[in-house]
Amino acid sequence: MTDLRKGILYYRQNIFPFQRETLERLAREGQRPERLLIGCSDSRVRLAEVMGAGPGELFIVRNAGNIVPDYGKHVGGVTASIEYAVTVLPIREIIVCGHTYCGAIQAMLHPETVENMPAVKQWLSYASAAAERGRKKNPAMGGDALVRATVAENVLLQLEHLRTFPCVRERMEKGALKLTAWVFRIEDGEVLEYDSAGGEWAPIR
Ligand SMILES: [Zn+2]
Repeated sequence: MTDLRKGILYYRQNIFPFQRETLERLAREGQRPERLLIGCSDSRVRLAEVMGAGPGELFIVRNAGNIVPDYGKHVGGVTASIEYAVTVLPIREIIVCGHTYCGAIQAMLHPETVENMPAVKQWLSYASAAAERGRKKNPAMGGDALVRATVAENVLLQLEHLRTFPCVRERMEKGALKLTAWVFRIEDGEVLEYDSAGGEWAPIR
């Protein structure tokens, strides 16, 4: 396991010097990120690093299952962060990024495994439609294949939920905001993007 204190020293000595100018400017002027990224809390998914995003470039919301509750059904940290970002920051794109082998999606498909965690159960219920769609569209699938299909359905469901936010709808109607669906494959580092015109997922190359 990495010694995090040593990691901080390494950052101070080897990385911060190259970011000093940018960070000093960001401290002075405040953040102006143009992208809001919604990802899973999973420790294997290092989104900013995978996407090559530097300081000040991504406003990030992470939670179990990269879930965006429907605006009318839940008020909490996720909804508040999204509302803040879209209303105050110059966000032009919201990316929802799921990932393969997602424990939240596995739990969504098997809710009996989270019976002893009422908060988790409640949280996952905001996206239970993804599990229903995953099963319905892929009746012959089980195990890993079903989890993969449901991971993708879940990301698309969260784009639908984003459209229930009045601030998101308003900016989309003005043509000032775009929604993007990605899935990060932790096993090979590929990021798949959903093409809504063709209804297909394809790796970003
Ligand atoms: Zn996950």
